[in-house]
Amino acid sequence: MLSTETRCLCGAVTITVKEINPRFTVCHCESCRAWGGAPFFAVQCGTKVNIEGAENIKMYDSSSWASRGFCTECGTHLFFKFKGSGEYNMPVGLFRDIKGLEMDMQYFSDQRPSYYCFSNKTKEMTRAEIMDHFSSKI
Ligand SMILES: [Zn+2]
Ligand SMILES: [Zn+2]
Repeated sequence: MLSTETRCLCGAVTITVKEINPRFTVCHCESCRAWGGAPFFAVQCGTKVNIEGAENIKMYDSSSWASRGFCTECGTHLFFKFKGSGEYNMPVGLFRDIKGLEMDMQYFSDQRPSYYCFSNKTKEMTRAEIMDHFSSKI
């Protein structure tokens, strides 16, 4: 994957990512759905991320293991960042030119409400499975 660049709606923040995993994830947890109004579709962007206009980003400390960043001028959701590893997950909709996008994983599948479902065939993890699997990270 070549380096790709994106901007928030107003252009106050520009983000360049060196490595994006096109196998994106969906998170159904209550925090993600409250933050964005719907499940969070995220691509893993690793740590090779360059941000211009970082002074226009507000970080919200959403849990003991991660923070969420958004543009203070237009409100565009920019990333979910793991405190321990420094890795970024970013909304898939920020990027226009990623090849081979494929829904790979649905997190917090047990918190998915009954009023929607996806027909995509994906892996799934419940809250208990996530806590067990990522206990070393969080
Ligand atoms: Zn903005
Ligand atoms: Zn979530």
